[in-house]
Amino acid sequence: MLRSKKTYRIPDVLLCVFKYIPYHVVALLLFMLWTALLPAFQTLAVASFVDNVTAYLAGNLALRGVFLALFCVLFFQFCIIILPALNRILEETGRNKMGLKLQIELLHKRACLEYHYVEEKESWDLVERITKDPSSQFISVFFNAMNLVSLSVTVFSILLIIMRTAPIAGIAIIVVAIPFCGLATRSGKENYGLAREGQKIQRRYQYLEDILIGRDTVEERNLFSYSNAVGKEYDRLCRKSFQIEKKIQRKSFINLKSGSVVTVILAILIIAFLFPSFYEGKLSLGLMIGLVTAIWNLVQSMSWQLSEMMFAFAQSSEFCKELTEFMAMDEKSGACVLPALRNQIKIDSVEFRDVSFCYPGTQNYVLHNCSFLLERGKSYAFVGENGAGKTTIVKLLLGLYEEYEGKILLNGIDVKEYPYEELKSFFAVLSQDFVRYELSIQENVFLGDVNVKDENRMYDALIKSGLEEMISGFPDGVSTELGHLKENGTDLSGGQWQRLAIARLLYADAQINVLDEPTSALDPMQESKIYNLFHEVRGDCLTIYITHRLGAARIADKIFVLKDGLIKEAGVHEELVQLENGFYREMYESQRAWYE
Ligand code: ADP
Repeated sequence: MLRSKKTYRIPDVLLCVFKYIPYHVVALLLFMLWTALLPAFQTLAVASFVDNVTAYLAGNLALRGVFLALFCVLFFQFCIIILPALNRILEETGRNKMGLKLQIELLHKRACLEYHYVEEKESWDLVERITKDPSSQFISVFFNAMNLVSLSVTVFSILLIIMRTAPIAGIAIIVVAIPFCGLATRSGKENYGLAREGQKIQRRYQYLEDILIGRDTVEERNLFSYSNAVGKEYDRLCRKSFQIEKKIQRKSFINLKSGSVVTVILAILIIAFLFPSFYEGKLSLGLMIGLVTAIWNLVQSMSWQLSEMMFAFAQSSEFCKELTEFMAMDEKSGACVLPALRNQIKIDSVEFRDVSFCYPGTQNYVLHNCSFLLERGKSYAFVGENGAGKTTIVKLLLGLYEEYEGKILLNGIDVKEYPYEELKSFFAVLSQDFVRYELSIQENVFLGDVNVKDENRMYDALIKSGLEEMISGFPDGVSTELGHLKENGTDLSGGQWQRLAIARLLYADAQINVLDEPTSALDPMQESKIYNLFHEVRGDCLTIYITHRLGAARIADKIFVLKDGLIKEAGVHEELVQLENGFYREMYESQRAWYE
């Protein structure tokens, strides 16, 4: 229902809410209208009750008339008490119903976004803000608008009663209320600005809180004993955030109190205006009492409600702006389509021809005229120091970025010409931060190829990855649940998780396998072991090893040495170590001790 590249304003969001939950919206609108008119009805009911009692005491009315008026007063009072609860139930069920539909749409959009948004912090923050509990945000926009309409209806209906009996008092209220509304609006917007500033600080101290108490950081926290140092910064940010909060509270309080003073003055003024009409008999005692009470309540609620509503209104506008930005984000076509069935096209060659690239929004070229040719059945290593551009090569190869100079060819055809779902099916990647899925062992492996669930292939991959012994030790075998999410979950060691990730890679049975330093957290010998393990079982595919540790690269048929985005040297290990003043040789000499 949401559309890309559309400017969303508050009415558009309201329309979306209506389309998602039409019955709830109609019911809520009726409730709102009834709630908004209640103060006016209650005013009339109180007036009639007082007048009827007076008439009864004077002997001009039967007791029945008094009871009838009393019943009306009680009925409206009952509505005032019960309606908010019914409203909340409707809001809750509406939110849940809309949540399901919205979540699906927004998550789909999120999954299809171009890859660079994932890497740009600002953009990703925006994505997270919009996709986290979107139904609450949509419902808030709806309720903010409804509250504003409701207040307007209430004010209008009471004004109508006043104008009918004492027009001058009505005009006086309007004249006094206009600057009053202006003040409340300004204060609401100011408070919203402050709250946004507070939110930024809050996000930062919440992150520090995660570091201070999180499970993932427990080892480093103990090792480096940084709790005190981080705690100080946490404390500083908390104080700053509380100060902002205090400022908002103070402003609201001043607003409220000044509102109350104005309320008293206004009420006295109105009573003064109403008095002549009452004296002349145009206004009954009941109506006089009812009106004074209603005006009192009305002006008082306007003094804080308006300010809060303007705060909420600013929030709604900000949400619409962010929703527009999110929906305008570019999508990668085919990103959400399942990869095509594997091995339908044989990939014989991969070629980079004079590829130069800089990341979007930056000026520095990360790759400069990079050229190389890779062939089927062989293995290649890209080595170089951190930041040399190795992972960038992989990202370009996978089609994650398309704005580059030069050409990237698969079987001599530009990668941009392959539909994305086909391109995805050629590759399997084991990256530095591969995921430890808290699922069963077999589900972990099956994720390698979502198109097929083949038990034989799964066992084959697990055996080749050297996990047979470990699995036979588990009573539930491949159905063993991993991680801590399930009560009986089993945790694996770092090396076992890596082997499982390799099993997933083997199960994927892709034609081009990329191992991008999946072992960077391990020592160099372990890395060599894992690379050797994969090398032995990899079969006929084209393999790319990315590493800054040369021991692991030795197994490759050809090594490309990258420095500052340039291929400086290429060859087999034995050739490269012979090169006088060679960069590879220098690196190798400095790393040699790791393997001795
Ligand atoms: P390597 O894999 O060799 O360690 P990378 O290919 O990850 O290096 O990075 C190469 C250079 O590109 C580094 O200077 C890095 O800071 C920069 N870089 C990586 N990702 C981004 C990004 N998303 N935006 C801007 N610069 C980036």
